[in-house]
Amino acid sequence: MTATVIGSNPGPTKEGRPVLACVPCASYEAAELTPAVERLLEPWGGFAALVRPGMTVFLKPNMLSAKSPAAAATTHPAVVEVVAAACRARGARVVIGDSPPLTMKRVEDFWEATGYRAAADRAGAELVALEREPAREITVTGPRGPLALRITDWYWRADLVINLCKLKTHNLTVLTGAVKNHFGLVPGLQKAQLHLRLPRATEFGALLADLAAAVPMGLHVMDGIVGMDGNGPAGGRPVPTGVLLAARDPVTVDLGASAVAGIEPADQPILRQCRARGWGPASLDEVVRHGDDPRRWRFAGFQVPAVPLLYRVPEPLFNVLRRFIWARPALVPARCIRCGACARVCAARAAELGRDGVRFRYGRCISCFCCLEVCPVEAIAMRSSPLIQVALYLRAWKRKLQGRSV
Ligand code: SF4
Ligand code: SF4
Repeated sequence: MTATVIGSNPGPTKEGRPVLACVPCASYEAAELTPAVERLLEPWGGFAALVRPGMTVFLKPNMLSAKSPAAAATTHPAVVEVVAAACRARGARVVIGDSPPLTMKRVEDFWEATGYRAAADRAGAELVALEREPAREITVTGPRGPLALRITDWYWRADLVINLCKLKTHNLTVLTGAVKNHFGLVPGLQKAQLHLRLPRATEFGALLADLAAAVPMGLHVMDGIVGMDGNGPAGGRPVPTGVLLAARDPVTVDLGASAVAGIEPADQPILRQCRARGWGPASLDEVVRHGDDPRRWRFAGFQVPAVPLLYRVPEPLFNVLRRFIWARPALVPARCIRCGACARVCAARAAELGRDGVRFRYGRCISCFCCLEVCPVEAIAMRSSPLIQVALYLRAWKRKLQGRSV
């Protein structure tokens, strides 16, 4: 393993103002998707300028769950296929990889369920299981001091890394998009340990901002054709948000996604931390737009998780009021198949599978919601305290009056 120290912030783009491409697309059918992707990449000269013969291109989709594409929990395989095929057509070797939580399945099961195996075969691309591949250690700044992280070696072996992220909600980070998708470059159970080490959304957002800045990718493409709202990132509601977004930096893409979802960047721990580091544009007013303005594509009624209310409470006050302001997992017993995936992923050992089924030990729970992400049958719901529920009710009314997401 090679130890490499990489700076945490690449600073503002050297190209001047960042460019955000936003192209409407209502379908994953090739007849509509292929020209939409080509139009999306026009500001950077398209695939012809980005990909040269003999290059190795690494595609990093969001392959969170072994669910069908219709669940909208993963980057749609049609988007992966169109990008992979275009790179192959220009003579590149294409490698596709992610590191999903392998609590009960093999990565091959994810490839089958998500449609990635068939998509890769059709495009002539290779799938790799990042857990079985070499990794290098880097050091990122980290919210509590330097943090050593192992990153898949494919990040360095590729000539071009393309981030193929998904527009979704997230119970911890509010939205999960381009910045968050860098987390999958960290293979294996290290991700769960990082949740345990940095349990608050603010700290976790800081880690993700530092990580994304330390391992910049060459291009970021967001699948927002069908997004996910509500109880994301695995068990939310598929919603036809109808757009593709692209930029050369992840913050710009996530600002576009925030506009579509109708969620203020200031309400998201990751984007707040990027702003605190002076990384990326502060708002869409600072970007050059190609195609549509994503604000025109705001999805009315996009449902937002409860977490913004939690992380905005200052740490000392949060510790005092912990009994009254909480959000935590709760079992839906009728759905549970007792597979044990939740217990295996829980780094805090707060989820236990016993003879009577799953039991949560809330005294240990850090509300990371990794158990929700891995449950294959959506047998875990998020429950919040009565105080949070009242606050959510008031917020929903306020947002309705303002014409924003609920
Ligand atoms: S709650 Fe979900 S992940 Fe946990 S044992 Fe039941 S089915 Fe499996
Ligand atoms: S029980 Fe679930 S939410 Fe609580 S710490 Fe474990 S994985 Fe995280």
